[in-house]
Amino acid sequence: MSALLELDGVSRRYSVRDGLFGSRRQVVRAVTDVSLAVPQGATLGLVGESGCGKSTLARLAVALERPDEGRALFRGESVWPRLPADFRRQVQMVFQDPYSSLNPRQKIGGIVGEGLVIHGVGDAAFRRERVAELLRMVGLSPAHAARYPHEFSGGQRQRVAIARCLALEPQLVVCDEPVSALDVSVQAQIVNLLRDLQERLGLTYLFVSHDLSVVGSMCDEVAVMYLGRLMERSPREALFAEPLHPYAKALLSAVPVPDPGKSRKREKLRGEPPSPFDPPTGCPFHPRCPSAFGPCPEIFPAWREAAPGRFVSCHLY
Ligand code: SF4
Ligand code: MG
Repeated sequence: MSALLELDGVSRRYSVRDGLFGSRRQVVRAVTDVSLAVPQGATLGLVGESGCGKSTLARLAVALERPDEGRALFRGESVWPRLPADFRRQVQMVFQDPYSSLNPRQKIGGIVGEGLVIHGVGDAAFRRERVAELLRMVGLSPAHAARYPHEFSGGQRQRVAIARCLALEPQLVVCDEPVSALDVSVQAQIVNLLRDLQERLGLTYLFVSHDLSVVGSMCDEVAVMYLGRLMERSPREALFAEPLHPYAKALLSAVPVPDPGKSRKREKLRGEPPSPFDPPTGCPFHPRCPSAFGPCPEIFPAWREAAPGRFVSCHLY
């Protein structure tokens, strides 16, 4: 499978104010040297604890952020300094919070059709028809176009956000925690909708979540991030059957398994994630790693193929 989007050694730092009344300027390395290809037509999951840099990586993928180092390629074309023609149509994002991502003063029809207006697609009659079609595609009714966001539940609002992102017929949809703000009962409906749309429209997803059980129901491959770095990337079944990286093991051992006979050994994570202002030397996971040994505190582990199709950054491999 060829890569639709490729991030090649991307890093992103922020300068933030910290300390008493913001008296200090500090640099946070949100993403460090990440290389990740999203294969066309597939769903790549990106998981990790909050603050690990996944949202920054999502924003780099849709070019809402520019990398300080490294490059992003879309269909083999460099994304910076000038976006490839059509990039803003081809690459869309669904955000976590369906309450804040929709303008409360705009009717649903206006929200869903906004991109069509901005990009000058069709006339008013065409756009009305397209909005009706999009609302049907996400399980809403064309009559909903005349209503306002506050009249809808969280799940329905996320359907509206998905309809909006599909308006311009994108190839790549980056979903940043698209179900995290929703009730568990609604989460499965939205996940099913996204899968169904992928099949019908041939979409490619980069699916960001802190929730491994959601990722497990959705993704073909999973990348695990910690403190701004990639720790492991594996096909979903392989990762869930036997995670390689000690951090991936710890994350997975917290996920409930449907068959209690097969329950995993719980490997509790020691301590809190270290401060991103002052990341550990060597392997960033070493202060919490139950398997840490000789080189771990000193030497950053290279990214290696540990088994066919499985990549890991750990001195054990
Ligand atoms: Fe643990 Fe060392 Fe592997 Fe890091 S490199 S995950 S500290 S064993
Ligand atoms: Mg986030």
